Amino acid sequence: SKIRIYTIAKELGIENAEMLSILDDLGIEYKSVSSTIEEDTVELIKGIVAEGRGSAPAVAQTDQPQPEKQEEVNTDTVQNDQAKTEKSRVDQTPAQADSGLSAEELAELAELEAEEAAEQAAAAARAELPHRAPVVTIMGHVDHGKTSLLDYIRSSKVAAKEAGGITQHVGAFEAKTSKGRVVFIDTPGHEAFTSIRARGANVADIAVIVIAADDSLMPQTREAIAHAQAAKVPMLVAINKVDLAQADPERVKADLTTINLVPEDYGGDVITVPVSARTGEGVEDLLEYISLTAELEDLRADPKGEFGGVIIESRVDKQAGVLATVMVQEGTLKVGDFLVVGENYGKVKAMTDSAGGRIKEAGPSTPVQILGFSESPSSGELVSRTENEHAARELIAGREEKRREEEEARKKPKLSLDDILGPLSEVQTVNLILRADTQGSLEAIQGILAKKETDDVKLNVLLAGIGAPTEGDVLLASTADATILCFSVVPSGAVKKAAENKEIDLKSYRIIYEMIDEVDRLIKGNLEPVY
Ligand code: GDP
Repeated sequence: SKIRIYTIAKELGIENAEMLSILDDLGIEYKSVSSTIEEDTVELIKGIVAEGRGSAPAVAQTDQPQPEKQEEVNTDTVQNDQAKTEKSRVDQTPAQADSGLSAEELAELAELEAEEAAEQAAAAARAELPHRAPVVTIMGHVDHGKTSLLDYIRSSKVAAKEAGGITQHVGAFEAKTSKGRVVFIDTPGHEAFTSIRARGANVADIAVIVIAADDSLMPQTREAIAHAQAAKVPMLVAINKVDLAQADPERVKADLTTINLVPEDYGGDVITVPVSARTGEGVEDLLEYISLTAELEDLRADPKGEFGGVIIESRVDKQAGVLATVMVQEGTLKVGDFLVVGENYGKVKAMTDSAGGRIKEAGPSTPVQILGFSESPSSGELVSRTENEHAARELIAGREEKRREEEEARKKPKLSLDDILGPLSEVQTVNLILRADTQGSLEAIQGILAKKETDDVKLNVLLAGIGAPTEGDVLLASTADATILCFSVVPSGAVKKAAENKEIDLKSYRIIYEMIDEVDRLIKGNLEPVY
């Protein structure tokens, strides 16, 4: 019989990551920790783990990584020095004679080894950092239950600081689970997620895609999936509303296979969890899978390192002033700190956690609401800290100068290195977002496009959706550098404007072949240098 990888890891009392590295060493293929392996293999692994414990335990390696690494570095330097001194004394050292390498080659080798040792030391240093809680975003089609799911988790997993008090909505909250903290971004929908990403910040570690069991895949489900995939964020699928009589979770799973997301019971690696935001059924399992995914991602941050954060949302309170929610990503934020966001700065006057409690400092993966900015920052803007007000002003002056230079540069025609040297031999990719009036025309277009790919240029359809393009599509296009092509659907004025502002190519066609001609041009554009 077959056994799941994480079950065996649990049984043997080892970390999932270690279990996977043993499988890697054995050359055994798997898709995720929830993949199954044969019983024979399990026996083999048990033997390896037992042996490891008996003689030189595998765990011992991680116990004292630093002294070992330092030794390595030291020997390298010594060898390197020796090579140099010996070279000055005689022309060829015994080592050179043995290896048949010249002094330069030996020195190069020593340098490479030193670099490798430094890399290993950096990895070991990272492994020393404490784990941080995962930040989760919930996305999916309208009415599939994103808000309800967040509400259920908030009400069952968050203890409000004031008895009977309603916790204020600050854009994120922390849930306490049996496996530790999980932070949820409390603005359902992918607009927030993408607008944050569009500014270059990746705030979410894990995306939960909610799909209603009575409705299955809908246009915004596909969009949400496309966004998570573009962000390279691991996904979990919550099949919601399983309490309904007409719920059909099996249909949802079957439908997922049609978009290349193969659920585990179909032999794939996509974790699907049946839940009900109404009764709470399955929510505990969902949280468990979130923790499991987070463990595999091995999320770490340095609470003592340089502070870095992202604005989740902000609003202006008539009495208090600007209230901004910051997600601390690295380091520790303290009351009294000077913060810079874009070309504005502020001093943290007061700080509250997501449950409304006053706090003095906040470490990684903590959402905090801060008082102290004079202007409202936008969600997705990066936050940094400076020593004092003077340094804050200097940083801002530098940014203003850089912005002006960039504006100037944009006015001049661009001539990139690629243009001068011609196309590289690497495979180029044309990213596309397709919009059409019907499923039939979408399939027809994709069928033709598939034949257009060449060895040098690949077409990557990020999203193929029915109906007019949305502002979300424009955001996706801007983060993934894609062109939006519409067939028999007309973009709204707002979407056209958004595309213009973000300098995204958005084109509409009534004849399929005109659209295909455009794709041909895009492919050629990637092949031929443009002057
Ligand atoms: P959102 O648009 O994705 O945020 O969806 P909502 O959370 O607003 O839910 C849409 C509707 O579905 C509401 O009427 C909810 O009460 C209902 N709903 C959400 N989750 C469930 C569930 O698990 N079971 C049932 N029966 N209804 C649900």
